[in-house]
Amino acid sequence: MAQVPIADGIFTWPSDQPQLIGSRCTLCQIVTFPAQVSCPRCPSTAMEEHLLARRGRLWAWTTQDFPPPSPPYAGPTGDAFVPFGVGYVELGGEVRVEARLTEADPSALTQGMEMELVLVPFRDRDGDEVMTFAFRPVG
Ligand SMILES: [Zn+2]
Repeated sequence: MAQVPIADGIFTWPSDQPQLIGSRCTLCQIVTFPAQVSCPRCPSTAMEEHLLARRGRLWAWTTQDFPPPSPPYAGPTGDAFVPFGVGYVELGGEVRVEARLTEADPSALTQGMEMELVLVPFRDRDGDEVMTFAFRPVG
């Protein structure tokens, strides 16, 4: 089964050391994720690609105990659904990214703990394994 990214332009692919693909305003330097074509803070449309740090600090989190509404959710439902953690991870002091967490037990997570970007299987599609990004605790 081949692995394919959930979408183009979200993270570097293929990569042993994946990074999220954000953007940075060349005028005011604000960093966004996902990448945007215009700055959310100033009138600039001069955004350049900016690869985000692979590690960051956990800022806030919770557990998704039931399948979210679909769309946009496109993962397993019914008996196939497995609860997963979701949270915000601050990367490089530049931007907070909302993402899945590999850890679904909130008591195993602590504020400020170091997290690392990983790519994880999300679902199967047309015989391919669709990969998405998540953060896992380091160490
Ligand atoms: Zn700007």
